[in-house]
Amino acid sequence: MILIDGKKVAEEIKLELKSEVDVLRTAGKKIPHLAAILVGENPASMAYVNNKVKSCADAGFVSTLIKKEGNISEEELLKVVEELNQNPDIDGFIVQLPLPKHIDELTVTMAIDPAKDVDGFHPVNFGKMAQGLPCFLPATPYGITLLLKYYNIDTVGKNVVVVGRSHIVGTPMSILLSRKGADATVTLTHSRTKNLEEIISQADIVIAAIGIPHFIKADMVKEGAVVIDVGINRVEDDTAIKKYKLVGDVDFENVAPKCSYITPVPGGVGPMTVVSLMKNTYLAALNKNAR
Ligand code: NAD
Repeated sequence: MILIDGKKVAEEIKLELKSEVDVLRTAGKKIPHLAAILVGENPASMAYVNNKVKSCADAGFVSTLIKKEGNISEEELLKVVEELNQNPDIDGFIVQLPLPKHIDELTVTMAIDPAKDVDGFHPVNFGKMAQGLPCFLPATPYGITLLLKYYNIDTVGKNVVVVGRSHIVGTPMSILLSRKGADATVTLTHSRTKNLEEIISQADIVIAAIGIPHFIKADMVKEGAVVIDVGINRVEDDTAIKKYKLVGDVDFENVAPKCSYITPVPGGVGPMTVVSLMKNTYLAALNKNAR
């Protein structure tokens, strides 16, 4: 079994980005600038955003964190989005999800200029992705494709089962891996899927994006399968200083011995999401689009 070290791969990509940014700086060109809007005080969202801002600083990017109270109106938030759309210094920006219930996430996502949508959530980018056109790829699935490439995990003709069909992970993942180049045969499964265990047991590659701790058990997984665990779940842990620990959607301890490759949580997919966002921002600064 080979442990896929997302942290290490992400650090390497960050170093590459840093040297690219150094070249831009030396040439007197524009340094990539990412802005992030954080609404409210959801602890997980705060941790994710702080991590994104810190990673940008590590690679020499400029980053701006815009914090808004949880009771901000949708109209006010849309104004902030529009200011960032219009600000020529900002190359790309994200609105950290989830948003408070009184704000419609789709309305906010739709308000982001697709040319600055470095999360790749806007339907324009999503549609381009589906057609294989240049666009900003959604950060988490993009990061997973980078990990598979780094470890030379062949997807051509492979039987891939994606569990979970969210707009930000499962659905775009299924599209990316079934496109030309990746050429996998993909089954997208969800909470209404029948015979899920049987379907997973036939997979060469399982991608779990469900949000339920330890959902994928050893008896569901084929011997030698590749298992990519997207889940980040907080579970109580009295022995930890913070009184919780992060676990994935895969029962790692029992599944890992059966796998050819597996990602840990933390340290697998998470760090790759952050560097994919940075790659998108770098490309936005170059006025190019990621493929
Ligand atoms: P979501 O809640 O939007 O979607 C969950 C999906 O799981 C749904 O499509 C649902 O149909 C499916 N599902 C739920 N119960 C199921 C069941 N019993 N059987 C089969 N399918 C079932 O979640 P999301 O935003 O895609 O996130 C999924 C997980 O990934 C969460 O733990 C989240 O924190 C994590 N996540 C991690 C990263 C990262 O960078 N590593 C990024 C985004 C999300």
